[in-house]
Amino acid sequence: MSDNLSVEHVTGHLLGRDGAGAVLLGSRCQSCGEYYFPKTDSCTRCCGTELGDYALGNEGVLWSWTVQGFLPKSPYNSGESVESFQPYGVGYIQLACGLKVESRLTCADPQQLRIGMPMHLVEVDYGRNAGKQLRTFAFAPAVSGSAQEKQ
Ligand SMILES: [Zn+2]
Repeated sequence: MSDNLSVEHVTGHLLGRDGAGAVLLGSRCQSCGEYYFPKTDSCTRCCGTELGDYALGNEGVLWSWTVQGFLPKSPYNSGESVESFQPYGVGYIQLACGLKVESRLTCADPQQLRIGMPMHLVEVDYGRNAGKQLRTFAFAPAVSGSAQEKQ
């Protein structure tokens, strides 16, 4: 399947790594505890400027979603044309800390998406541009049994 394309991870700077793989990398305000994604150095809640890096994890629940059914305008850079474009899911994932993160979804089938369903962070290829395979983060429906059950 490999055809020697170089890979450009367009959102790699938004991710950290732990033993389980990729995690979203954000910030947490040292003064008021507010969370941010992506990372920032100023708090819009308390105007604090002491924020530390914070690993936001790789799990959440689907808070809202839709299916992008037509080619987005620039700067969308998948290299697709109107003819080759494939619809994709996009939604907000609510993380355990309460923060909601906008994300591409691996599923574009309305029959398989429901608000409140558990989701898991993955990295996906989404197109090609300028001779590079483009890669980003996305959320996929969590496979039953793969995540620790919480009661
Ligand atoms: Zn703050």
